[in-house]
Amino acid sequence: MDSSRHLSLQAIFDLAQKALLSNGFSDSQSAAIARNVCKAQIDECHSHGLFRIPFYINALKNESANPSAVPELVKNDKSIVHIDGKNGFCPVALELGLPVLAEKAKEFGIAAMAIHNVYNIAALWPEVERLAEDQLIGFAFTASNAFVAPAGGISPLYGTNPMAFAWPRSGKPPLVFDQASSASARGEIQLHARAGQSIPDGWAIDAQGNPTNNPDEALKGAQLPFGGHKGSSIALMVELLAGALIGDLFSYESSQKDTHGVGAPSGGEFLIAINPTACVLGEQADSQQSRAEMLFEKLLSQPGTRLPSSRRYEARKRSEANGVDIPEKLFEEITALIQ
Ligand code: NDP
Repeated sequence: MDSSRHLSLQAIFDLAQKALLSNGFSDSQSAAIARNVCKAQIDECHSHGLFRIPFYINALKNESANPSAVPELVKNDKSIVHIDGKNGFCPVALELGLPVLAEKAKEFGIAAMAIHNVYNIAALWPEVERLAEDQLIGFAFTASNAFVAPAGGISPLYGTNPMAFAWPRSGKPPLVFDQASSASARGEIQLHARAGQSIPDGWAIDAQGNPTNNPDEALKGAQLPFGGHKGSSIALMVELLAGALIGDLFSYESSQKDTHGVGAPSGGEFLIAINPTACVLGEQADSQQSRAEMLFEKLLSQPGTRLPSSRRYEARKRSEANGVDIPEKLFEEITALIQ
């Protein structure tokens, strides 16, 4: 069995931030990224935890990536908030914009935020969970690099294009789902390659368009959308919302900008926040939560079901109580990045 290294929650943050600082990231960029990576590691979202630190550092091979960018709130006049990430990384831009988006949604009932010009290598659930903690419904969308063939095609065009959704719950952590529109996240294929494991059927095709279970062939070929044409349409929608709508890059354009082929997606992220109480006739506001809970109870009464995000919350409880274990190999890889 591979050996592992036990880390406290503070140690995850320190390890991530030290590696980033030593490779040219500013205090604010490195702290926001480390907080984001820490959240993913604590929730056992391994493909976006400490595993991502070398990718953040590698992304700097792109001439445009700016490890000390200071994002700016550039337009905030109506119900749409605009943040210019200045070619830095998404977590710090989100930390600037989310409180403003939440205030706008409370004021107008519905608001949106366009994050422009960022490198985005992160999971999307932290931002929608943050909106739900403010009693708002949250949606987030981002395109990535051209990794996924459209339904019927064999060449990468779409990104793995995740979308996330959050529903606030009284007295409980929000219901959240966050899923790629591909059959798997790219990080999952990279983790399989690193572990020398084959990937499940239906995740990818090789460069000739043949189905493959070999993660290295999959990374050279194309990933597949989940659910055939249905996932393909969701990937298309994400391209339109996070690309054309907000004047930012499509996944294939991000790939063209990825001059060293490091796989670091750049472009925009689009978020929507809704104030639930603005959506019903006055007297129905009280029943929104109880009706949702009734649905969750019905769902959970079926054996074998669970709510999306319940796995993460259970992992979070475990990590907060005991710390986390990461593969020794990963610990050494990140430690080696600290000069
Ligand atoms: P998964 O398929 O692992 O999970 C997707 C969602 O489904 C999660 O919310 C998960 O909840 C939920 N879920 C899983 N199993 C069940 C079940 N049996 N019943 C109910 N709900 C379930 O995620 P993906 O591989 O699609 O994506 C992984 C991550 O990669 C995402 O966080 C995404 O944002 C990120 N990503 C980021 C990209 C970027 O460019 N920035 C690109 C592509 C992906 P739970 O978490 O509780 O298991």
